[in-house]
Amino acid sequence: MPALNAVLEDRLIARDSARLRRLTSADALAEGMLHTAQGRLHHFCGNDYLGLAHDARVVSAAREAMLQGTGAGASRLVTGNHSGYDPLERALAAHSGHEAALVFSSGFAAITGTISALMGKGDLILADRLAHACMLDGAKLSGAKLLRFHHNDRTHLEALLAQHRAQYQHTLIITEHIFSMDGDKAPLDDLVSIKNKYDAWLMVDDAHGIGIVNYPHKSSVDIWCGTLSKALASVGGYVCASALLKSYLVNHARSLIYSTALPPSALAAAQAAIAIMVQESWRGERALAHARRVTQALSLPHADSAIVPVVIGNDDDALRMSERLKHAGYAISAIRPPTVPEGTARLRLSFSAAHSDAQVDGLITALSRELGR
Ligand SMILES: *Cc1c(COP(=O)(O)O)cnc(C)c1O
Repeated sequence: MPALNAVLEDRLIARDSARLRRLTSADALAEGMLHTAQGRLHHFCGNDYLGLAHDARVVSAAREAMLQGTGAGASRLVTGNHSGYDPLERALAAHSGHEAALVFSSGFAAITGTISALMGKGDLILADRLAHACMLDGAKLSGAKLLRFHHNDRTHLEALLAQHRAQYQHTLIITEHIFSMDGDKAPLDDLVSIKNKYDAWLMVDDAHGIGIVNYPHKSSVDIWCGTLSKALASVGGYVCASALLKSYLVNHARSLIYSTALPPSALAAAQAAIAIMVQESWRGERALAHARRVTQALSLPHADSAIVPVVIGNDDDALRMSERLKHAGYAISAIRPPTVPEGTARLRLSFSAAHSDAQVDGLITALSRELGR
């Protein structure tokens, strides 16, 4: 039997070397900067959309709470259910307009745990083709039949429902609100009417929308979920739904039951960030305005969110462009397959309220040089 290392080497070489992923150190700093081995760069590849990860009020809330202990020490169902959970879940539920919210240790855990608890053999899951990996993993874990519909294509979704719905007991439609690699918006009004028409449930992942793009009818979506780790500057994930679904998940979601609770500092940071997000709506508006200024200056499609994809096509070209931009002082990630479809390697720009107008001007200059625009 070949040794483990020999097997792994084979598998890694079988991957095209340009696609090999590596971990490199990067410390996000205040004011939209990033410290890397190459020095201080302007940080246009994070998800701290509201610029709250270094906000003095959020940091101080986390520091205060940390004095109560650094780790939770047990699952929420055992002794880890710190008193910080309840107000945080109330704030999340109030924001989405649902009866209740349930916080998990990450967005990944919230989504895989919810889908796999709710759906099973004999059920059908319809996922947008570009939905996040955790939605697909949750679907696989559930044992339900998984079909993918073309990205944001309500006609294709309806055709699949018309063809398959009757053969399955329960049906769940899953999508992102704002797509993480494309920055575009799902047609949620249409999805709500389709799920009603075909007696299906709808689950929407708002990881990249909260604080930036508001969907006013969130409560008409059965399960509204997201993460505390991006705009909310902390760590953890949440599901907003009915009180009954919350009780059901407390009893059935394995990623909640068998995983240690979040530390008090994470709960306090998220709680402080939500309050600021609500009071200071200019933050989301500012991130969005930065994105729109860049799309306009570079003649890219109008930005719907704080995420702007610059599709390059070829993997190597995208990587080289990202390297050159790094030398010019800008941290911008090249996103390649399998994260995005073949032939659509891209630079993914993301904007934050922490960026100054001067930083965005500098980015426009550096990018126009690269793109020849
Ligand atoms: C980041 C992300 C997640 C996972 O959230 P974490 O809290 O980072 O685990 C889920 N869905 C989408 C669309 C994401 O971008």
